[in-house]
Amino acid sequence: MQYFTSVGLEVHAQLLTASKIFCGCSTAFGAPPNTNVCQICLGYPGALPVLNRNAVELAARAAIALGCTVHPVSVFARKHYFYPDLPKGYQISQHALPLATDGLMAIDSAGGPRSIRIVRLHMEEDAGKSLHGEGVSTESFTGVDFNRSGVPLIEIVTAPDIDSAEVAAACFSRIRDVLVAIGVTDGNMEEGSLRCDANVSVRLSSDAPLGVKTETKNINSFRFVQRALQFEIDRQVALLAAGERVEQETRLWDSSTGRTVSMRGKEEAHDYRYLPEPDLRPLHISPQFVGELRRTLPELPEQARERLMATYGLPAYDAGVLTQSVALTRYYEAVAAASGNPKGASNWIMVEVLGRLNAAGDDIADLEIAPESLASLIRLADSGRITGPTAKQVFERMFVEGGRPEAIVEAEGLARVNDEATIAALVRETLAAHPKPVEQYRAGKKQTLGFLVGQVMKASSGKADPETVSRHVRRLLEQV
Ligand code: ZN
Ligand code: MN
Repeated sequence: MQYFTSVGLEVHAQLLTASKIFCGCSTAFGAPPNTNVCQICLGYPGALPVLNRNAVELAARAAIALGCTVHPVSVFARKHYFYPDLPKGYQISQHALPLATDGLMAIDSAGGPRSIRIVRLHMEEDAGKSLHGEGVSTESFTGVDFNRSGVPLIEIVTAPDIDSAEVAAACFSRIRDVLVAIGVTDGNMEEGSLRCDANVSVRLSSDAPLGVKTETKNINSFRFVQRALQFEIDRQVALLAAGERVEQETRLWDSSTGRTVSMRGKEEAHDYRYLPEPDLRPLHISPQFVGELRRTLPELPEQARERLMATYGLPAYDAGVLTQSVALTRYYEAVAAASGNPKGASNWIMVEVLGRLNAAGDDIADLEIAPESLASLIRLADSGRITGPTAKQVFERMFVEGGRPEAIVEAEGLARVNDEATIAALVRETLAAHPKPVEQYRAGKKQTLGFLVGQVMKASSGKADPETVSRHVRRLLEQV
């Protein structure tokens, strides 16, 4: 039997503000516990919250980029629950009247294009963090760090329009790319600035009502989104296929076992007793404010991709890779302009630069080769002053030790060797050192030519002009 899957995502993203949403405390990650706190974010009775204007701007910018309608009036509400990391006993969020609603995202997936509706986007504060024996004291001790308490978040809720784990991962990835590209969040899941929960249900017919759903939490790494959801979908399908029922519950993804496990059942479902926050007035946003944000919205990844294809004649694949981050796009454009070879710049960046960065687990921000330096290297290779293999050698030096390519070529004597006499001598030596392939060539096994050319190139440390080498090798082999 075929089952139909419905997934809805709830994405929390930390806004890139310097200070918290309702007080002046710093949002910097990694400070010693309870050093970025004050009476407001510690929930002292009588302390009054003041809304951070920059948080509103970033949240509204995110809403616009995701195609949502930003409402002229939205209202903060208290969401009540008890937990040690929540000193006020409630989280200030938005409930009945959120900042924005009704967005839409177009996703390309292996199964074809999909439209995913965004139900709402609202602002809220983050809670603190419980630290269980993590160096705070003994194993049996739990401490609470309130540095995160009051950090500004947006929560983005999609409709259950997602029909597979793969589309869910693509959708989450798109949300992250958009938010990062427009400077709303740093998208760092390891530091908790981007989190993803998912509601999953399956049913037997596409027009049957949605099945019983579970909520999967704690998907704490980008690469686990698809795996966690696939596990949960398969688990529910197996239950139904065996004639059993899916329990409505909250489940936790455990990356060490690759499974989701039950955390709490429906009987413990929360009643948050929402009520409007009396200490904050309704948030009024003018059409002028929204218009200004729309006009100044940074380029979205999709627009960047199309622009690179149109401006530089790049294939869709290259444009997709080079628009994975704004920093990478900027780097590419600087190299393309300075080298005058847009496709060459794309090849160098995709193969050498990204290859080297990925192997080191670094990203483009860690690269110490200035765009002008990489462009000079490309020009050196394009002009024929150095050979292809030498260019790669020089790149390696630049990557590890820095330095300008011209200086490296000069200092190491790496310029291409075109001199006929030098190359002829090198070819004679090399052929003398490899009598067997020479014999084989003369006996009719012409493939050994490539091997011998390679040996001469190696003997020249990659500096000899490959065409001259090839011509000399062939001429010598033909003379008996
Ligand atoms: Zn504070
Ligand atoms: Mn939330």
